[in-house]
Amino acid sequence: MKKNTLSIHSENILPIIKKWLYSDKNIFIRELISNACDALNKVKILKEQGAIQSDESDLKVSVQIDKANRTITIADTGIGMTAEEVEKYIAQIAFSGAEEFINKYKSQVEKDPIIGHFGLGFYSAYMVAKTVDIQTRSYQPDASAVFWSCDGTSTYEIDAGSKASRGTEIVLHIDEESSEFLEESTLKELMIRFCRFLPFPIELNGQSIDNKAPLWMKSPSECTDNDYLNFYRALFPMDPDPIFWIHLNVDYPFTLKGILYFPKIHRRFDSKESSIKLFCNRVFVSDNCSDILPDYLMILRGAIDSPDIPLNVSRSYLQVDKNVRQLSSHISKKVSDRLTSLYKTDREKFISCWPDVEMIVKLGILQDEKFYDRVKECLIWKNSQDSWTTVPEYLERNPNSKIFYAPEDRTGSIGKAYREKNIEFLYSNAFVDTALVSFLENKLSCKFQRIDGALDDSLLDETREKTVLDSDGKTSGAKIASFIRQSLSKDGVEVEAKSLSLDSLPGMVILKEEERRLRDYMSLTQGKPMMNFLSKKTFIVNTNNKLVQAIERLQRKQPEVAKDLACHLYDLSLLAQKELEPSEVEQVISRHTVVLEKLADLYQE
Ligand code: ADP
Ligand code: MG
Repeated sequence: MKKNTLSIHSENILPIIKKWLYSDKNIFIRELISNACDALNKVKILKEQGAIQSDESDLKVSVQIDKANRTITIADTGIGMTAEEVEKYIAQIAFSGAEEFINKYKSQVEKDPIIGHFGLGFYSAYMVAKTVDIQTRSYQPDASAVFWSCDGTSTYEIDAGSKASRGTEIVLHIDEESSEFLEESTLKELMIRFCRFLPFPIELNGQSIDNKAPLWMKSPSECTDNDYLNFYRALFPMDPDPIFWIHLNVDYPFTLKGILYFPKIHRRFDSKESSIKLFCNRVFVSDNCSDILPDYLMILRGAIDSPDIPLNVSRSYLQVDKNVRQLSSHISKKVSDRLTSLYKTDREKFISCWPDVEMIVKLGILQDEKFYDRVKECLIWKNSQDSWTTVPEYLERNPNSKIFYAPEDRTGSIGKAYREKNIEFLYSNAFVDTALVSFLENKLSCKFQRIDGALDDSLLDETREKTVLDSDGKTSGAKIASFIRQSLSKDGVEVEAKSLSLDSLPGMVILKEEERRLRDYMSLTQGKPMMNFLSKKTFIVNTNNKLVQAIERLQRKQPEVAKDLACHLYDLSLLAQKELEPSEVEQVISRHTVVLEKLADLYQE
């Protein structure tokens, strides 16, 4: 028997690896099974070349748990290793690789222990095992069996082995802290997670884990819609069916395969959490592609498989990696092509899918100039006439006009006033549209204005405007405005009385476009609506509205009631425009009750 020292400088490298990789201990099974599959694949290649003469078709990986002896054995019928190969590949190269890795990334690893996938391969076994034994026999006809064992210190044993047939057995003597892996259910779950798409049969305790070729390996022309749907259901069993998909298949200048699905309404807008599974040569690597793909594609689901994505490096490195950048822009182009071709060939379907794709289009436009150029023609808006349009189309219909818009759920009676005058406005949703609107103003040299961002002249009815001056030299409008202003006595709220053409609209609160955008922006960054953002408001009251006229009449006889009504009118307008904090709604309701009580009293008298 030979006793050798591992070619390594640090005595304590294994404890260090163990500690750093602790958070991602699970990957040992992925690494060892993928090594086994590599070895099987080599047999396949040698057979094709005629270098191995056996007609044996039994290429497989078997994992066996022995609970009593606390071992997990990963056995394969691959090419095996000679004693020289064990020395070279296991003892030297891997160790020096690990050492190099640790030296290189030491500072990063210390900062952020979960930097992802270390690719330490064979040595990840020491995350769960105190001792690892190898029994192996090379495919070469004159090779003899080899035994290797190392207890994680820097010495190992190498000796004649007992393996009678070609292949390798890795025996892990599981340490005390890793007993969970001796549970069949735990290990099975991990094997399914990491290895379900590997190309050779894989067994656990004699039972197949039912792994098979992933759909992305097939050529798109061979896949039916049902194949795609079934594959999605297998990947995301809890999800409703997706709306459409893209099959990626690139060989040059990088290798990329995969299927990306546009999911049905996403329940959450958590765009940092990706649902695109990342594979490397069919081995599952991660549930999350957020280091590789731009944020706006995080809504997509599916799987991508590319051996060209470096797996053992940090995020900041990934973002400058040339392959990763090319790959990411390729995917982005595919996504925009899919969207625009659907828009051109089946506008109806595109519109019906809009709620599901809207976020991808809008975030993509905001985050990626190239994406904007490709999808701009299919950026659609629902308008106040309940049809769908684009901004250029709007401008064609309404030349030299501002582009009026309003959040769909907040248009209330102001929307009615615009509709009555046949003024078209677009529905927006508050979440991204504030930023989008500013972006489009720059791009298209146009001006957007929310319908409550100013009082548009077209809403006025000049014929009923009261221009007569009384003895104080004031119009009746100016007087009621000043009474209401005093009644409200709120800093930063101006009151103006106007003759509006829609009588049923008692008033509206105008919040300047720029200030509102700033507020929306602040809300977005704060993560909560900021209704009471300090800004000037103008309360326009409609002199043609009965309630306003009633306040005017009650002013002298019942000043208190008139004052309450004025305050209430303001509250109602805020409520209609969804400008109240939830906590204020309560107060408004109790004030409202008081006003009604007073009015009821008045009626009795
Ligand atoms: P990598 O797989 O990236 O080369 P590993 O540390 O996982 O690095 O493995 C080191 C080397 O050990 C492999 O390249 C291979 O030559 C050899 N090896 C590991 N496991 C096996 C196995 N089951 N059968 C044959 N050779 C193996
Ligand atoms: Mg490996």
